[in-house]
Amino acid sequence: MLGCGVFEWRGVCLGARGELLLLAPMPKTPDVITRFAPSPTGHLHIGGARTALFCWAFARKHHGHFVLRIEDTDQARSSDESAKGIMEDMAWLGIEWDEGPELSWKGRKIGGDPRGVGPFFQARRVPLYNKWIMHLVEQGKAYPAFDTKQQLDVKKDAARAAKQTYRYDRAALKEMPEIKDRLKRMESGEPHVIRFMAPHEEIVVNDMVLGVVKYAAGEMDDFVIRKDDGFPLYNFAVVVDDETMGISHVLRAQEHLNNTPRQVALQKALGFRTPTFSHVPMIFNMNNEKMSKRDKAKVARKTLKDAMAKDKALSVDSLASDIGIESAVLSEFVAADNNSVDVAQRLAKRFKIALPEIEVADFRENGYSPEAICNFIALVGWNPGLKTPDGKDLEKFDNAFLCQHFDFDRIGKTNGMLNPAKMLSFNSDAIGAMADGVFVEKWLEFLKEWEPALHARVSAMPMEKKLLLARALKPRAKTFRDAARPIGFLLVADDGVLFDPAAVEKNLKASIATTGPSGSGASTTGLALLRGLRGVLEASANFEPANGAAMEAEISAYAESQGVKLGSAAQALRVAMTGTGVSPALGDSLALLGKNSVLARLDRALTL
Ligand code: GLU
Repeated sequence: MLGCGVFEWRGVCLGARGELLLLAPMPKTPDVITRFAPSPTGHLHIGGARTALFCWAFARKHHGHFVLRIEDTDQARSSDESAKGIMEDMAWLGIEWDEGPELSWKGRKIGGDPRGVGPFFQARRVPLYNKWIMHLVEQGKAYPAFDTKQQLDVKKDAARAAKQTYRYDRAALKEMPEIKDRLKRMESGEPHVIRFMAPHEEIVVNDMVLGVVKYAAGEMDDFVIRKDDGFPLYNFAVVVDDETMGISHVLRAQEHLNNTPRQVALQKALGFRTPTFSHVPMIFNMNNEKMSKRDKAKVARKTLKDAMAKDKALSVDSLASDIGIESAVLSEFVAADNNSVDVAQRLAKRFKIALPEIEVADFRENGYSPEAICNFIALVGWNPGLKTPDGKDLEKFDNAFLCQHFDFDRIGKTNGMLNPAKMLSFNSDAIGAMADGVFVEKWLEFLKEWEPALHARVSAMPMEKKLLLARALKPRAKTFRDAARPIGFLLVADDGVLFDPAAVEKNLKASIATTGPSGSGASTTGLALLRGLRGVLEASANFEPANGAAMEAEISAYAESQGVKLGSAAQALRVAMTGTGVSPALGDSLALLGKNSVLARLDRALTL
């Protein structure tokens, strides 16, 4: 508070004589302030991304603010690297926070502290938490407890033996009924935790998704709010932050529902407001389980075990050296003693399998469009309740639509399921619907991050070639990564094409029966066709992005003159150009390579 006269309100105050005084302008506090509060212990989980998306959309709908707060009080598990990764994943998804740690993203700055409520890393707010903890202790609503681990273990074991739920017995409180004695002992530096004196009363939460949720009196014990290392525990830090950051609406996953009565009890004890709570059902996988990083290990482990059962020559030792890790680590992995994502990824590469996508980073790396992801995850647990003109449920929408229509009343009460096949089809539709220029821009962004060599090659092309690529690749690509696969041949030097022996055998060496003018019953080979095609291509004036069809017509005419199908000639050319039988449309592929490269590669194939 700036504090000047007898009455003060948002930067205006009345002086002692009733005169109007203007203070430094106070930023207007919006009515709706939401927050996303991830713990930076890994990548952004797809479920966390949905929570962030909903919080953001709700704030946008009400012209409010969306705050990002990093909950890093668990110092052993938190890292700045994870916090940065989470921020980048959010920015990539287009979920931008108005307040929170600053991030430079594509030349812009996201975050900041316009209301002066930061810092936004909990580890930097410890003095603030201590202030409120002391306030509770001085009021007798929290107390230091000096019990040792051994003392507590004895009591826990006794409760277990008596088949009773363990509850802290307030031994510390009984030992020191006087507040001044507790303060003195705390100040003496003796190790202690701070426990909250849990109220013995029913707690009622009016949840916007779940309705009225009641917690019976006496269910809560005197839980710890500050550890002996001086760091507050989650429930306490959240309450102080939600209050001091002015959070009006807390929307989070249902796994936090059990924390809510504790937080409400603390809010009451501290004299804070209780924000509006909305607990959103979880996102499960198709096996109806919580989606977890462990799913990656499970898939890799099963593949490994199946392969070892099939091929007795495969051993843990040989595989470990194959994938570059120690045998002991792989043995542990096989025995499910570790669920290392790194080992899972190495095995996935070795066995050429795809691992389940769990985190935003997985979808990013695999070439998903952020818009398609936001659209799809919004639908896992929420729907706009609108129909398309042809009477179907409206499912395809963008973030602007979500911001306009999102509300708590259409969030389901049961856990949502993430169907990867449906997500892929959303992505494929999103790519297919992109204008060629938009595809080029977004695909280049993907290549820049994940396929830099291809990015350098494609971005150096003139725009008309880029657009040609877009037209050639879009219809067959379900992801941006898919679009990168069939054009790897563009990266290889003309004398560096690696020939797939099976493709060479089938398309260049095997005999091809001919029909028509050159005589029924006669045969030719792909190599022979290439010799003739060399002349056709050398003379062709159609090595232009727009002339793919004309180029294919020339090849077709040649194939017909030889009594073979266009497919035989086309496959022979594909093998010569790419080493395999796979490439985008033939005319487009030739135009992308250009005449010189095409002739050089043809000559090299002819020497096979
Ligand atoms: N830090 C908690 C988490 O990452 C979220 C806490 C909250 O939203 O209240 O799960």
